[in-house]
Amino acid sequence: MSTLLLGAHMSIAGGVSRALDRAASIGSNAVQLFTKNNRQWSGPPVDEADVARWHAEMPALGIEYAVSHASYLINLASPNPAIWERSVDAHADELRRAHAYAIRHVVLHPGAHTGSGEEAGIARIAEALNRIHAETSECAATVTLLEAMAGQGSTLGATFGQLRRIIEQVAEQERVAVCADTCHVFAAGYDLRSDEGYAAMMDEIEREVGLTRVRCWHFNDSKGALGSRVDRHTHIGEGEIGAGGFHRILNDSRWQGIAMLLETPKGEELADDVRNLARLCELVDDPARIPPGLRTPPHAGQSPH
Ligand code: ZN
Ligand code: MN
Ligand code: MN
Repeated sequence: MSTLLLGAHMSIAGGVSRALDRAASIGSNAVQLFTKNNRQWSGPPVDEADVARWHAEMPALGIEYAVSHASYLINLASPNPAIWERSVDAHADELRRAHAYAIRHVVLHPGAHTGSGEEAGIARIAEALNRIHAETSECAATVTLLEAMAGQGSTLGATFGQLRRIIEQVAEQERVAVCADTCHVFAAGYDLRSDEGYAAMMDEIEREVGLTRVRCWHFNDSKGALGSRVDRHTHIGEGEIGAGGFHRILNDSRWQGIAMLLETPKGEELADDVRNLARLCELVDDPARIPPGLRTPPHAGQSPH
């Protein structure tokens, strides 16, 4: 089996490309980042000097995979025309930013119908994606990864069947795929703690969207119980999922080549990421698959600045 792609969500303080330095400083070979402030609708123009630095540093630092996460404000399922239009523009902008950095995947929360109902919300998301795709034909290589969600409130995408129904209504289906999240799927009712529960989830993924449609994993333990629909991330092995769920995914050959990225709580320094990645590496059956930088533990707490 191939070397794992392991990493975490990293800050872009000082420039988008600085996320690469942070990822490399803890020995990881994959990274997730925001291409701008994730709590704002729009960001500054793309910094061409930073793009140049990105293209030079990514191979130099041994970062093999990068994915961006779209703004939390975007709601392509909104029945409110003003919010929907704003969301369409914002996600088109996210795709253009990612494209500038040659980032091929942009994770997006599918959206919340806020009362209009599941069917209407799903149709709205697909309509938005069709509009966005038509407006960003130059970014066709940048794929939106609809994230599997915990299902809090009117949030859509808590089942792989719902994600399939969105994808079905998208015209350019090669431009849309799925990001799975261990905390979210567990909170949505998929029991990663047992072989039977994991097998049932894998069967459902294969049946609904196809395994190859899943292009990225978020690795978070869950504070919420199985099926609680509560989206609260915690450290690997310290939540309701426990080590076994991560062991199953890490060592399943069907996930070869798919990056696994932490979105677990952390402070300014990266000691929490170092600890969580070390826990994941301990769960890898074949040590040869551990990314080179993670084979000898780096000094916990060593900051890139
Ligand atoms: Zn997310
Ligand atoms: Mn996630
Ligand atoms: Mn979450």
